[in-house]
Amino acid sequence: MAFGTETVYGLGGRADSAAAVAAIYAAKQRPAGNPLICHYPDLESARVDAEFGPVGLALAAAFWPGPLTLVLPRAPGCRIAANAGPPDTLAVRVPGHDAARALLRAVGVPIAAPSANPSGGLSPTTAHHVLAGLGEKIDAVLDCGPCPVGIESTVLNLSGPYATLLRPGRVTVDEIEALIGPLGVPGDEVVRGPGLLGPHYAPRAALRLNALCATAEEGFLAFGEGGRAQGPVFQLSTRGDLTEAAARLFTGLRLLDDIVLRRGLSDIAVMPIPNEGIGVAINDRLARAALRT
Ligand code: AMP
Ligand code: MG
Repeated sequence: MAFGTETVYGLGGRADSAAAVAAIYAAKQRPAGNPLICHYPDLESARVDAEFGPVGLALAAAFWPGPLTLVLPRAPGCRIAANAGPPDTLAVRVPGHDAARALLRAVGVPIAAPSANPSGGLSPTTAHHVLAGLGEKIDAVLDCGPCPVGIESTVLNLSGPYATLLRPGRVTVDEIEALIGPLGVPGDEVVRGPGLLGPHYAPRAALRLNALCATAEEGFLAFGEGGRAQGPVFQLSTRGDLTEAAARLFTGLRLLDDIVLRRGLSDIAVMPIPNEGIGVAINDRLARAALRT
């Protein structure tokens, strides 16, 4: 069943059931090497499956419930099915969304929940997006309203000798480093997060990044003032607010993608987004969307 969180909608299944995990991979057509994040109602329940060192506990205390995923060593009694990810580590999160946490509390088992979209495509931030992409393949979607953050969680690897960022998100490197000190430079742990590499989050239309104007043959994803377009426009944030832009990113890309394909336009031109705060995460998603094959 799909459900809303503060980041994006997830396709949830029992993380302790190999059959449920396999069904998630099948519905999304997700490559087997791309591990799943397990969701919990609180820190206490996450500690059954993952080993939190002092750094993990400090981060959980500061940012949970919220849009931060921690990759940790698996605990000795870890309940998570082997096909959910690597044998030694586990990605865990307590979402900061009341409906999601109520659901997690009610089911009482860890829930594996990747974004509720066909693998490689745009993440869903409304129940309607979920139905558009996976409607034929899933039992239900719990409509939790539009996702307030709108962009996937920050993923931090704490399973190695030092902490490294695997995916930028709403919780920024500055906020994390203010608490635990400087992050390490990513090394081979990046290879262990294969879903974080290469093309992803892609619309069907091509993207042209850092565009200040768009022709009549292009859709235009605008951010703030100063852009010029002759074709269809989606404004991420008139006042140039990055938080608002993140919340509207996937909706904007979806709408423009539909228009570009329907009208036979050439691509989506995207205005530059300041690379600060959650803008780092927006630019990460746009760069990967532009890599689409
Ligand atoms: P998604 O749920 O699709 O937003 O993506 C979750 C991402 O978290 C995956 O693409 C992985 O790269 C990362 N991830 C999940 N589990 C692990 C793990 N055990 N080790 C490293 N990365 C992980
Ligand atoms: Mg995803």
